[in-house]
Amino acid sequence: MLFAHDTECSLIAAAALVNTAGRDGELLPDIAALDAFFVRHSYSGRHEHTDAELQAVRELRPQLRRIWHAEPAEIVAVVNGLLLEHKALPQLIEHDDEPYHLHAVPRDAPLATRIAVEAAMAMADLVRTGELSRLRICEYPDCDNVVVDLSRNRSRRFCEAGCGNRAAVTAYRARRAASRS
Ligand SMILES: [Zn+2]
Ligand SMILES: [Zn+2]
Repeated sequence: MLFAHDTECSLIAAAALVNTAGRDGELLPDIAALDAFFVRHSYSGRHEHTDAELQAVRELRPQLRRIWHAEPAEIVAVVNGLLLEHKALPQLIEHDDEPYHLHAVPRDAPLATRIAVEAAMAMADLVRTGELSRLRICEYPDCDNVVVDLSRNRSRRFCEAGCGNRAAVTAYRARRAASRS
């Protein structure tokens, strides 16, 4: 583990959320899709199952995507802005069999707020450890999905939407074509 467990989970969830408006189009089309996202990323606490909640979570995506494209100074400004806006106050808590981790807003805060603040806290860890280079854009041609590289050797190049497989297939075909000619 490179970072604290909650940091890694928040980074993965933030990237996954950004990519729900990525190469595969709208992946949060309805409340059921948000429910699935909620479960997949082990969220707990307030979950309204409303269109307003869905809309708020969707609107977070361009805001979070900015972090992937920004210079460190701008990232710091975005992170500080989010923490200030939501009056983040880090507290250690344990719940649902999870070991102690940080919550910076109450569990009954709106889902979009909690996702934003968790992302900001996780980004703060990347800034403090000098690891912002872990935030990348997928290298597959014409894919601009975001990537969080949590591998030891910083080898992650492709997003979770299958671009690694696509790249492997392309490379395989290129090798075959080359050996035939
Ligand atoms: Zn928690
Ligand atoms: Zn990709």
